[in-house]
Amino acid sequence: MMKTVLKGLNLAELEKFVLELGEKRFRAQQLYTWMYKRNVDDFQQMTDISQTFRDRLQEIAEINAVWQEQVQISPREQTRKYLLRLQDGAMIESVLMFIDNRVTLCISTQVGCPVDCKFCATGLMGLKRNLTAGEIIDQVLYAQRESGAKISNVVVMGMGEPLLVYDSLMHALDILSSDSGQNIAKRHIVVSTSGVIPAMQRFIREGRKYRLAISLSATTDEVRNRIIPINRKWPIADLMQVARQYIRSSRELMTFEYVLIAGVNDSVEDARRLCSLLRGMRVKVNLIPYNETVQGFDRPANDQVEAFYRELLPLRAPVTVRWSKGVDIDAGCGQLWTKASASGAVASDQ
Ligand code: SAH
Ligand code: SF4
Repeated sequence: MMKTVLKGLNLAELEKFVLELGEKRFRAQQLYTWMYKRNVDDFQQMTDISQTFRDRLQEIAEINAVWQEQVQISPREQTRKYLLRLQDGAMIESVLMFIDNRVTLCISTQVGCPVDCKFCATGLMGLKRNLTAGEIIDQVLYAQRESGAKISNVVVMGMGEPLLVYDSLMHALDILSSDSGQNIAKRHIVVSTSGVIPAMQRFIREGRKYRLAISLSATTDEVRNRIIPINRKWPIADLMQVARQYIRSSRELMTFEYVLIAGVNDSVEDARRLCSLLRGMRVKVNLIPYNETVQGFDRPANDQVEAFYRELLPLRAPVTVRWSKGVDIDAGCGQLWTKASASGAVASDQ
């Protein structure tokens, strides 16, 4: 018999689970606190639960949803990159970054990704499957146990398009941010999307307090159609309209990510077009010089990045250049997986 994976169940679901086993309702809150607050992954350590029930749980249920396959630590110990194995043998990755006083974990939401951005190593894999809520949460709990550090920020920018896994993602983030869970501040959780408009509208309608970021990475539909194919369905003008709605209703800045790729989207004209697109909006811009992972796409020279940055100054918005953290240990999107499978060090994900 397959064991029931408890991680990913919220309080109501845990209550249903314990009631079905003939236990009292309050056992659910105990399990919730042990798993999500105290981060204990062994039933035997749950000391306020009777020995008989602990033994029963051990027989029929499982706590963890991800297992360590490989850890790479950067020489200066500013990043830890994890390759994690799921119950069915599929692999995903998460990256832990120590920046200033924050401990930020970048998590995945899918094995591969169906959006097929041409410059993205994860996109090249295609979609293998969506992650469950438990697999999303467990990346955070695992990283916390492995590193011994309390995670203060979560960015949903690993493998996959988070808004295509909307229900599982919200289920996971609601548990992580709950008082009796990890209590991570909602505004310290950023969900990055390539622009799945209906899901963005739902996010706004539901008044979700997590932060949203749009991976724009082009200033004309012609270029964006080519490198981020879902743009054909949801073009730039529509995306800008939803961004305005988000700013109005959340009263937050809208973050735009822009991956700078040499000769594709990094010209001074592009920078000027980006200014006109964003003018008058309350925005933040993250420029990400391309991390060379896919053949045929190159990182611009530093002075090109500099020139692009300077063109954005008239916006008077916060603009940062994110020299991908942890490039020294291949912490870019999708890279460890590709490398490990190419070298035969890790079995294929099926
Ligand atoms: N699917 C979501 C989140 C995961 S990708 C999204 O696209 O927003 C997270 C970010 O990494 C995106 O902004 C994406 O454009 C960027 N990215 C992907 N491959 C990259 C690479 N090789 N170098 C730099 N940034 C990359
Ligand atoms: Fe998917 Fe994001 Fe990669 Fe595009 S950039 S293929 S949406 S993970």
